[in-house]
Order: sequence, then C-alpha cells, then structure tokens
Amino acid sequence: MHFTEPVYRNPYWPTYPLLQITQGCTHNRCRFCSMYKGVGFRLQPMEYIEEDLKEIAEIVPDARTIQLLSANPLAMTYDKLVPILEMVNRYLPDMEYVYTATRVTDICNKTVPQLRHLKELGLREISLGVESGDDWTLNRVNKGYHASDIIEQCTKLEDAGIDYWMTFLNGIGGRSHWKEHALHSAEVFSRLNPYVVGTGGLTLFPDTDLFSEAQDGTFDPLDEKGLMEELLLFVENLDFKGRFITHHTSSMDLNTGNFGRDKDRIIRSLRKEIEHGDLDAMSAMRARKRGL
Ligand code: SF4
Repeated sequence: MHFTEPVYRNPYWPTYPLLQITQGCTHNRCRFCSMYKGVGFRLQPMEYIEEDLKEIAEIVPDARTIQLLSANPLAMTYDKLVPILEMVNRYLPDMEYVYTATRVTDICNKTVPQLRHLKELGLREISLGVESGDDWTLNRVNKGYHASDIIEQCTKLEDAGIDYWMTFLNGIGGRSHWKEHALHSAEVFSRLNPYVVGTGGLTLFPDTDLFSEAQDGTFDPLDEKGLMEELLLFVENLDFKGRFITHHTSSMDLNTGNFGRDKDRIIRSLRKEIEHGDLDAMSAMRARKRGL
C-alpha cells in the first residue's frame, strides 16, 4: 500500500480498507493545525491507486466500505474523481459506502448533478472540518472561507443527497470571541441538516501559529471551564436532528444518535460538569494529547 504519513482516518467510520488518493492538505494554513506541516499536497499517481486497490481486492474482495485519504481528496476535480471511483467499483464490486474528509471549499467547483453522480458511484458520506460559523473566528484561524460559503456548499451536498458531518472546534475564538463563535456556529449549523455534528476542544500544539500567539499574548485561550461554557452555549442554541459526537477531556458521555431527543440531557450533563468537574484532570488529559 502507498501511504504517506500522517495517516489520519475518521475513527467512527470503518477504519479498513483505506485508500490514499491525495497526499496532504491543499490549504495547510489553519492556525491551529500542524497535521500536514512539511507534507506537500499532491494527487496520488493513478498507478499507485490501482496497485492499492488490487491489494485490497485480494484481501477483502467483498469490501462494502472504503475511506479515502488524505485531508481533502475532494480537492480533485470531478473529472479526476470519476475514474477513481469507477476503479474502486471495478475492483470492489460490492462497494456501497465511500467515505472521505474534505474542505468546504472543495465542493465549490462541483455542480449538484456532478455531486449526485459521485454519490451514484458510492460517495455517501463526507466529513467537513467546518470549525466555526462565525466569520471573525474563521478569519482568525485562517480557514479560508466564510459562513455564507458553508451554507451554500452544504446545501449543494443536501441537494445531491450526500450525508455530511460538520465539526465545531470549541475554543478557537479565544476569550474575546467565545460567545460569537458559539452562537454564530449554532445558527449556521442549525440552518443546515448535517448527518453528524462533531465537536472537539482546542488543544494548542507547539508547532502551530495559535500556540505561538498564545505564548506572545496575541491569542488568549479559554481554560477547561471556559471551553465547557462555550460548548454549553453552542449546544443550547443548536437545533438539528442527527447524531452528536464530542471529544472532550472529561469522562461524561454526551454522544447521541438523536440530538433532538437528548439535547436536554446533554445540557444537564454539561452544566453539572461546569459546576463539579475535575478541571485539573481535564487539563492534564489535554496536555497529553498529541493530535487533533
Ligand atoms: S485543519 Fe484541515 S484544512 Fe486546515 S490545515 Fe489542517 S488539514 Fe488542512
């Protein structure tokens, strides 16, 4: 198999087989992220893709799922994606679910009929590292798009019938904009119909711009309690019907397959944790994190 480190795959999707069709991230400039630092973006050569599919087909000829790597494979044009998905189906004829992470901006150059065709070829679920619905915060962390882009591109996915995940990155507005980040994100996410909303708390990794800014005082990060309060404000104002998944540093379980049904329980848990949670233990756990 032809993989370039780092290999990140969504742990909620089947983690095998994996197929790398791009390397790195086209953007590579989000101020909190160092995952692909030093890894240039490139399209995987078609011969590598075919060799890998042959290998997968020998081991799991009846594979029904596959996860495409790396950061944003949909950066490829429609014309380049179609032959790859056709090849996936040729080598793995039982294929039903092709999963991939990607950026909001990667949807821009694809029409709804093209997205619909990609779905017919198996592309069923996409994870979008949206991070915020607040324009100030999106600019602050250099995501490279705005709230209006999120709404426009996710609506195209809905029109094409492709399920998608949206992530809320708790903490990236810092102390100065935590309320705007939470409220505007909840507003944008609630206008859409994501299959999953995922949240994770900001960890400042030493090789990121945001870490340096926290060191020199130009970014004022939230502490664990502040992160919980921001997450609570986001949840209180969020309205959607799908799955809700959180990665945070406390031991409480906020995950649910039905956010509408369990929203009150989640709010109660968060309030209790803000009041009585072991914030030192949470900080210690965050300090041990090595990746997003
Ligand atoms: S967060 Fe995603 S889009 Fe931003 S640099 Fe990292 S991999 Fe690329």
